[in-house]
Amino acid sequence: MKVLIRGAGVTGLTLAHELSSRGADVTVVDSRRQVAGNASWQAGGMLAPWCELESAEETVLTLGRGAADWWDAALPGHVMRNGTLVVAAARDVAELDRFGRRTSGYRAIDAEAIAALEPDLEGSFVSALFFNEEAHLDPRQALLGLQQKLARMGVRFEFGYGAVHRPSADVEADCTGITGQLTGLRGVRGEMLILRTSEVALARPVRLLHPRIPVYVVPRSCNLFMVGATMIESDAAGPITARSVMELLNAAYALHPAFGEAELVETGTGIRPAFTDNLPRVEREGNTIRTNGLYRHGFLLAPAMAVKAAAMILGTETEKERADEAHH
Ligand SMILES: Cc1cc2nc3c(=O)[nH]c(=O)nc-3n(C[C@H](O)[C@H](O)[C@H](O)COP(=O)(O)OP(=O)(O)OC[C@H]3O[C@@H](n4cnc5c(N)ncnc54)[C@H](O)[C@@H]3O)c2cc1C
Repeated sequence: MKVLIRGAGVTGLTLAHELSSRGADVTVVDSRRQVAGNASWQAGGMLAPWCELESAEETVLTLGRGAADWWDAALPGHVMRNGTLVVAAARDVAELDRFGRRTSGYRAIDAEAIAALEPDLEGSFVSALFFNEEAHLDPRQALLGLQQKLARMGVRFEFGYGAVHRPSADVEADCTGITGQLTGLRGVRGEMLILRTSEVALARPVRLLHPRIPVYVVPRSCNLFMVGATMIESDAAGPITARSVMELLNAAYALHPAFGEAELVETGTGIRPAFTDNLPRVEREGNTIRTNGLYRHGFLLAPAMAVKAAAMILGTETEKERADEAHH
């Protein structure tokens, strides 16, 4: 079967992997010139379904708990399974209680245990929540790694082509993120920055809770740290605002003062595609499949959505899946 996938973000590439692994003849088309710059490129790369329960429905945990295994199988060596550490300043300790009430899959730990996990945070926080089963990856390495693997598997890539480009295919899969054609889609702007310092080492994503401006810091290789992310109800893709830079930098500095001396090597903005319920969807219309709305869970939920969309395209859905789709 010939499948044309529109969109080389995490949604399109994971679907290409599922389809190509099952023998489909896949072409991926993207209006950009390369796999870079889209929402997926700006992501933190956290695979954190238990932490996300703070603001997400149980479905996100159900769909996302297998994500680390999927990525590990698709791209061995990319997934770091070191958990997530959630901390709050002493004056914001009520935030830690609130976060704990809304989530699951963690243990509350004291200052000694924090220092054992993250020696550079020794003495900074008296208590924390440790989500042992969570994982993270470098989203840019993962996207590029997936693209290279797919090319080796025979998937064709055509960059720099928009909607008018229509190579022949039996099925078209729309994975175009915020420009997608599903009704009810909205954009949620996320701003981030990347710092470089050799003065701090972290083994895992650390979330710093705050009543107004919660942030996270995700360690990457080469002394890089991704600091994110704002959540703004807007699809304006312009540069990061001065206020957001200040807030993200303040929070990084609050986590560790050495971030104050770090190099600010990049700022970025990504627009998360979301539906009103903030849950992803796969829909079919004729021989077009649309999969979208991965919101703040692209790397976490794309594997499950790709499995679902591939089954729909290849006609291998279970009776239950077909019934659910009809009901939807
Ligand atoms: C700052 C930030 C941090 C985030 N952190 C995390 C995280 O830690 N963990 C997590 O799981 N998720 C995270 N997310 C969410 C995640 O990035 C998104 O859910 C995900 O990127 C959505 O992927 P997508 O492939 O649907 O869209 P995109 O990545 O936007 O890809 C869509 C692609 O379609 C292409 N396109 C558009 N129109 C056309 C057309 N007509 N023809 C051809 N191509 C077209 C675009 O050029 C683009 O490449 C974060 C998001 C942001 C912004």
